[in-house]
Amino acid sequence: MTVDVAVGGTVLGEPGVEHRPSLSPSRAADFKTCPLLYRFRTIDRLPEQPTFDQARGTLVHAVLERLFDLPAADRTVEQAAALVEEQWQRLLEQQEELTGLFAEGEPPEEFLTSARSLLGGYFAVEDPRRLDPAERECLVTTEVDEGRLVLRGYVDRLDVSPAGDLRVVDYKTGGAPREAFEARALFQLKFYALVLWRTRGVVPRVLRLLYLKDAEACDYTPDVEELTRFERTLIALWAAIQKATADKDFRPRPSRLCGWCAHQALCPAYDGTPPPFPDLREIPGSAITVDAPD
Ligand code: SF4
Repeated sequence: MTVDVAVGGTVLGEPGVEHRPSLSPSRAADFKTCPLLYRFRTIDRLPEQPTFDQARGTLVHAVLERLFDLPAADRTVEQAAALVEEQWQRLLEQQEELTGLFAEGEPPEEFLTSARSLLGGYFAVEDPRRLDPAERECLVTTEVDEGRLVLRGYVDRLDVSPAGDLRVVDYKTGGAPREAFEARALFQLKFYALVLWRTRGVVPRVLRLLYLKDAEACDYTPDVEELTRFERTLIALWAAIQKATADKDFRPRPSRLCGWCAHQALCPAYDGTPPPFPDLREIPGSAITVDAPD
């Protein structure tokens, strides 16, 4: 049997990107955290105004990516701080939604200062003059479950040692207590590790989370058994997403993460009412035909 269902985490309309049903770590983590949150973001596609913390995170990621374009000797904390304003102007030109964050599009000095402070946290745990990243902001993608599920995501940084060992690095810039998001962060890194293992045949040696606010690095070493189990988990998750979509049944799952949810006003757990479930066939490109779960 086939039914029309929404794609899970597929980035539709993105130039140069394959438009097949795919799962990203963010959307997979959304469904795990709260199925209704997944629906709001992926199926209803409700807009979310970036928060101060999210905008600052985008800015810091942009600076760290640009930093490695500089000759190694120039990758200093002063150079990084000097890139902050330039990168913010570039982001404002590229991402319209950021312009509404501050009056007349001008960030308060506090915003730029806090971004520089996070960069200081980065330099406290790594010396970029001694690093030569193999890739930055790189798209990684693979198929699992005999091609029935495509996994895709963007890795902040990938380091490859002369011996061929992979280190996946993810920068965490959030202002919230990191304990609230730690499980989600590790889930994301395992997701990348699985994709890299499947595409390159090598299990990454290290998964590194860099918490810039705390100036702390957390390293984790995955193994084949764990990634094999993780792959099964993702396949089961995808089946659950397909079933929820076919049944139009995405339930709220309140947790402490509700404090960071932009959609509380529409959530039954907070006396809200979700919008009617969209007719996916009326949203160009958002409905696809897949095998329905049993
Ligand atoms: S408020 Fe909480 S329960 Fe409701 S949709 Fe958001 S994350 Fe889910």
